[in-house]
Amino acid sequence: MREDFCERVEQLIIANKELKFQNEEKDKKVAELISTNKAQGEFFVNISHEIKTPLNVIFSTAQLFDMYCKNGLLNDKKASVVKYIAAIKQNSYRLSKLINNIVDISKIEAGFFKLNLSNNNIVKVVEEIVMSVTTLTDSKGLNIIFDTDTEEKIIACDTEKIERIVLNLLSNAIKFSDEGDEIIVDIKDKNEFVDISVKDNGIGIEKEHLDMIFDRFKQVDKSLSRNTEGTGVGLNLVKSIVELHGGSIYVESEFGKGSKFTVKLPSKKVLKENMMYSSNARSEDENIRVEFSDIDL
Ligand code: ADP
Repeated sequence: MREDFCERVEQLIIANKELKFQNEEKDKKVAELISTNKAQGEFFVNISHEIKTPLNVIFSTAQLFDMYCKNGLLNDKKASVVKYIAAIKQNSYRLSKLINNIVDISKIEAGFFKLNLSNNNIVKVVEEIVMSVTTLTDSKGLNIIFDTDTEEKIIACDTEKIERIVLNLLSNAIKFSDEGDEIIVDIKDKNEFVDISVKDNGIGIEKEHLDMIFDRFKQVDKSLSRNTEGTGVGLNLVKSIVELHGGSIYVESEFGKGSKFTVKLPSKKVLKENMMYSSNARSEDENIRVEFSDIDL
């Protein structure tokens, strides 16, 4: 009788512990959900701001043109009209970039984002991307250097997506650098992997922000954007695309001295290629203008 009672008490203690554990887990999940919800809310507020800013520029320029037309001033104002058309284009590119990024992130989350893998010389792919932005970096007084320890390294990759990755890292390096600064794009053959790094000697990133810059919902913290335009989704997208390639990305940075982002891609090849790489197939200029749309060049 007494043994039964003791056994029952023991069972109750175990059940109680289990319940306590379950409750703690539930509390943790609720706290996580509240935090994610809050971050998502802030993210959408930020996105809305990013949509409204270029839209306002486009809309007010259209109104100005309307007024010029009505007052017969179009010819007299030709010089400023040309300038405003450039602003409309730049802001349309900004909107395109934002929409592309949101669509891609949603596709990745839903598992619909597919890579068109083919075997390519990654050295040539990256070098061509770097060369295609030199006119723009020259105009900002930035020195861009391409370096590699190998001439050829054939790996399976989606060249269009590699372009998104490199252009995104370059656009950040440019955005956070000043006239006279240097950007080095370096390729290192590590046998099993190939390392592609983009290094700048710009403003750098504070230590406490380093862990979160790849997190989409956390990086919307305005202190991270330091008054530069941007949604904070770029690096999250870059990380996802790198991971879809079976690779990884990491950052080293010292506040005030500069940053270095390294993408590590596996040196594997595909037997069945989805698409052949053709440097002519890219609408180079258009892609660069979209990716660099939030930089004043
Ligand atoms: P955004 O589109 O807002 O630039 P990213 O995801 O590309 O978003 O970058 C997130 C944040 O990480 C930036 O707002 C910036 O604070 C920081 N960052 C990224 N790259 C650099 C860099 N090269 N130098 C300094 N800060 C950087």
